[in-house]
Amino acid sequence: MSVNSRMPVLFVGHGNPMNAIEDNSFSRSWKKLGEELGKPKVILSVSAHFAKDRPRISTSMENKQIYDMYGFPDQLYQVKYHTVGAPEYAGRALELCEGRLTADNSWGLDHGIWSVLIHMYPKADIPIVTMGVGYRTSPEEHFELGRMLRPLRDEDVLILTSGNVVHNLSLVSWNKKDGFEWADRFDEAVIESIRDRRFSDVVDYRKLPGHEKAFRTVEHFYPLLVALGAACDDDEISVSNDQRLMGAMSMTSYLFTPPMVE
Ligand code: ZN
Repeated sequence: MSVNSRMPVLFVGHGNPMNAIEDNSFSRSWKKLGEELGKPKVILSVSAHFAKDRPRISTSMENKQIYDMYGFPDQLYQVKYHTVGAPEYAGRALELCEGRLTADNSWGLDHGIWSVLIHMYPKADIPIVTMGVGYRTSPEEHFELGRMLRPLRDEDVLILTSGNVVHNLSLVSWNKKDGFEWADRFDEAVIESIRDRRFSDVVDYRKLPGHEKAFRTVEHFYPLLVALGAACDDDEISVSNDQRLMGAMSMTSYLFTPPMVE
């Protein structure tokens, strides 16, 4: 039997919270992904919505579900995704990151993660360690955090990071079906850099075309950098949901899969 030599790493473009309850191409792709990846022992989630000055991680026994979205239909606030934490793995992450990460149990499981996981793993039976990103921490340091967390992949932990490569709510045009030209250019430059394994070009995103408008705040972009840091040289890279919506939002997602071993 051949098995994965370590766990994959995933970056998901989560987009509209309504994806949690809608049957669309994104929610279907997440369902398929869960089936393909199988069930990890623990998920380490890195969410755009758990954004503080510096990256934090939860060591709690249980994850409070957070409904951090406003003005959506009642049905969305009824979605339950109750999961336990994994304090021993959070401790392991803290140890691996050597003081660059702080324990913080003030947050929980936000919609950036549960709107995706409800499709990937609908039974909510996998312990989740929730981690966030830091506004005052550089792109390089987020990449480095991913690198430091990499050994967890050998311990049956799925690193699932969630954000959006292009995410500029002030320029969103609700009725527009595709992306603005600058959004396409930025998203495509990121795809090309990642496919060519030029990860440093993504970390150094200010040199990429379209970056000026791609986002006003960094929290939806930084989860991608953690995923890139956690990727290994021999991982196969696959790109999915390569689409821009509402002008200023990209759903592009990346999966880093290790080679199979006998
Ligand atoms: Zn979001």
